Amino acid sequence: MSSQSKKIIILGGGTAGWITANLMATHWQGKGFDITLVESPDIGIVGVGEGSTPPLKGFMDTIGVREAEWMPECNATYKIGITFKNWSTKPGFSEYVHPFVGQPDQFTAPAFFHNSFLRRKGVDLEGHPDHFFLATEMIRQKLSPVAPENFPFEIAYGYHFDSGLLGQFLRRVAEKKGVKYKVATVAGALLDAEGNIDHLKTTDGEVLQADLYVDSSGFRGNLIQKTLKVPFISCAESLFNDSAVVLATDQKEDYAPHTVSTAMKHGWAWKIPLTNRNGNGYVYSSSFVDDDKAETEFRAHLGLLDSEVEARKLNFKVGRVAQHWAKNCLAVGLSQGFIEPLEATALDMVQETVVRFIEAYNNGGYTDKYRDDFNDRINARFDAVRDYIVCHYRISSRTDTDYWLANSANEKISPSLRSILMSWMAGKNITDELLEQKLDVYFPNVSWNCLLTGKGVYPAQDQLRPGNELAHKYNIEEVREFNRRCALNFRPHMDQLVSLR
Ligand SMILES: Cc1cc2nc3c(=O)[nH]c(=O)nc-3n(C[C@H](O)[C@H](O)[C@H](O)COP(=O)(O)OP(=O)(O)OC[C@H]3O[C@@H](n4cnc5c(N)ncnc54)[C@H](O)[C@@H]3O)c2cc1C
Repeated sequence: MSSQSKKIIILGGGTAGWITANLMATHWQGKGFDITLVESPDIGIVGVGEGSTPPLKGFMDTIGVREAEWMPECNATYKIGITFKNWSTKPGFSEYVHPFVGQPDQFTAPAFFHNSFLRRKGVDLEGHPDHFFLATEMIRQKLSPVAPENFPFEIAYGYHFDSGLLGQFLRRVAEKKGVKYKVATVAGALLDAEGNIDHLKTTDGEVLQADLYVDSSGFRGNLIQKTLKVPFISCAESLFNDSAVVLATDQKEDYAPHTVSTAMKHGWAWKIPLTNRNGNGYVYSSSFVDDDKAETEFRAHLGLLDSEVEARKLNFKVGRVAQHWAKNCLAVGLSQGFIEPLEATALDMVQETVVRFIEAYNNGGYTDKYRDDFNDRINARFDAVRDYIVCHYRISSRTDTDYWLANSANEKISPSLRSILMSWMAGKNITDELLEQKLDVYFPNVSWNCLLTGKGVYPAQDQLRPGNELAHKYNIEEVREFNRRCALNFRPHMDQLVSLR
């Protein structure tokens, strides 16, 4: 790419394309960039992806959009964690919350680490993560995470939203920032003598030329995979799910700010509360169950066996491309890869890819000088997410179907995850191992500890001994009381949502 690169075409108007357009238009405002997003009128967006992690708040702040502007338009709600149900059969561990950890948790996390560490060593201490974190208490009480001005700590939170409406909202913001929108289907791309993309050709025969091409064409990966032939590295051997069935249900509840992930016979089901409906989906493996049986199981789970409401079916592939930035093309979104939606990490990956690209591109004087560093960084992030998600399945104690038996017996896990699990089983502190394996680049130590303790990966109850006074230095009731008192500062989730309208 030349140091004069200023013309950018973004192929694809799904959430990934519009997040990219907004970030580029914001960061490069007034720098002479000319950005056009091209979207096919015939190829739809994937239309799922309704849960986020906390960085989405940072994205909205960066592009200058307030919650009151976007949340009501996208039927959005707050999210401060994910509740995992029925993933473990260990007594007392049938469910747990993976919380978004905020500043107040710095006061209670030492008790969590102390107790869970000693419990792994056989001391009978309370080690379930749900006793220690503020988010869990707030989910229990259905509170909003928006802190009042007098509360001196930051709370980490994300959102749930209608992904179609979010895309449309982001399009309007991007257009105000000068991004051009073109409706056309790209039929193919031609390379120049050096193997860079020279131009795109639409089905109408129009030639679209730019210096930089962003491939946000979804699972198709039109430019990065089809044109540039960047290899796709599958992780299907360690993540069996490849299908989903999706159904909306009426919103009748006073909902808590969390996603619920319930383990099913051949995968897991999400429940995402929006202001106008619940988004539900069953993610499963087609190697273990056929579509019809999966849909029946899902309908039974939702109490909709007799309902006429139509379900949508989706297939996906798990893995990532070998390089996200190749030649003069940057892949963003499903075109760059997907590690199934269990922790709702995909949009965060989109943001990280674009922000790091802008940084690398700027630092290199608008050249590809830092391309390899960039690719290494994004790959490390993908692989860290993959290991965390694989760990969910590998440590599940369910034995009710071949699906769960195959997951817990699966030896095709990465060496990095293997080393974490070995450390854990050996009763070691996994902090150093996470660092060494670069597995803390996405999920921090506390998340890994929540995952393993929340599923009850501890010695059996009858092997625990009472322990001495020092082992019992934290009073769990005091920890819970601390969280209850912090929670007194927050309004009900529903009230906060109403106040945004
Ligand atoms: C079952 C499931 C659940 C998910 N849940 C979550 C979640 O909870 N949280 C999360 O963060 N993510 C989730 N995701 C991922 C999330 O849906 C995507 O990351 C997000 O929607 C971005 O998709 P995209 O923009 O890359 O692709 P798409 O939405 O597929 O958009 C592709 C775009 O490319 C255009 N296009 C394609 N080919 C051409 C062409 N030849 N010419 C012109 N235009 C073209 C299409 O018109 C479309 O606009 C989930 C995904 C799946 C499959």
